[in-house]
Amino acid sequence: MSALFAASTSNEEAFVHTIQDLKAGYKKFRSGAYAEQTDQYRELGTGQDPDVMVISCADSRVEPAEIFAANPGQLFVVRNVANLVHARDADQTAHSVASAVEFAVTALKVKHIVVLGHAACGGVKACLSAGNGQPIGEFIAPWVEALDATRDQVLASSPADPQTALEHAGVGTSLDNLMSYSFVRDAVTAGTLELHGAWFNIGPGELSWRDPKTGEFSLFDA
Ligand SMILES: [Zn+2]
Repeated sequence: MSALFAASTSNEEAFVHTIQDLKAGYKKFRSGAYAEQTDQYRELGTGQDPDVMVISCADSRVEPAEIFAANPGQLFVVRNVANLVHARDADQTAHSVASAVEFAVTALKVKHIVVLGHAACGGVKACLSAGNGQPIGEFIAPWVEALDATRDQVLASSPADPQTALEHAGVGTSLDNLMSYSFVRDAVTAGTLELHGAWFNIGPGELSWRDPKTGEFSLFDA
């Protein structure tokens, strides 16, 4: 593990294993990134005005700001297991994703929401496992149930790679579910908000973009 990212992080302080590592990292942030961008941070301290929201997995390998080379203040990010948006449920209003989307759309007035899936997603794997009669976790299993219908549809077509097929289709499901919220629907209809799907392949570091018409993913041409 210690050899990973050796080229971009030149000393051992960059590896975070303990609280001491976190403290060392913070020290490095203060003398490095913060010192270099003090003015930007001071300005951000007075408010945020991001144009893009990203809904990403909690997976430690999928870092939206890193993938999109974005600075603090530029991406409004919510992360959860399997980058899911659940369809609106009037009975469950205390909902992390819905509240973040509501704030992003109605207060920040973001112009784009990107649902960012990824390869080797443990949450998607858990949904496939539940489909085989082996649900995982007290909280994970009910959370990833949002993909059950999608999973069954995907498996009905006997894909060569069910994991990737469900990762792709799951992004589409979350995009569909976003439209179950009236503030999203209204903004999309008004043309002030666009919804996008993407999928990150961790090993090769490649991003695929979702075609909204076909639901197919193709390599994003950087
Ligand atoms: Zn994941």
